[in-house]
Amino acid sequence: MSVTNVLRDGGYIQNAEELTGPFGAALAEGKLIVQRCLDCSALIMYPKYRCPTCFSGNLGWHQVSGAGTLATFTILRYGPPSSFDVEAPYCIGIVKLDEGPQLMCRMHPGSDGTWDHYVCEQRVNFVPADAAEVAERPAAWFSAALG
Ligand SMILES: [Zn+2]
Repeated sequence: MSVTNVLRDGGYIQNAEELTGPFGAALAEGKLIVQRCLDCSALIMYPKYRCPTCFSGNLGWHQVSGAGTLATFTILRYGPPSSFDVEAPYCIGIVKLDEGPQLMCRMHPGSDGTWDHYVCEQRVNFVPADAAEVAERPAAWFSAALG
């Protein structure tokens, strides 16, 4: 028996949809959630089978504020994945949430249709997308924080 099989027998989730489904379902309801270890309280993003801090499989979900800092971003103009080809150009950001975890997300363009107003280390906020958009492309959307 391989190590992988031993770990799976120990409780690994083998279906990616089972692992990430709650994240997408929350986005469809306008909420941003991350995994939370129910043993050591570590917040986890992206969803994992085990807590990276204490290796517990006792994981739940935690709704976060949606406030964070834009760590970096890029504008994708060519070669998007298949379900995103109609979206190009679009902006992908890495946001570090105030609660700690960071995630890749979509960035809303400004009123001029560009992303020229973004700079690294800028404050940003989660903005719920409509459920149809989330069903097609389950990604969290962020915009520049006001004020
Ligand atoms: Zn833990």
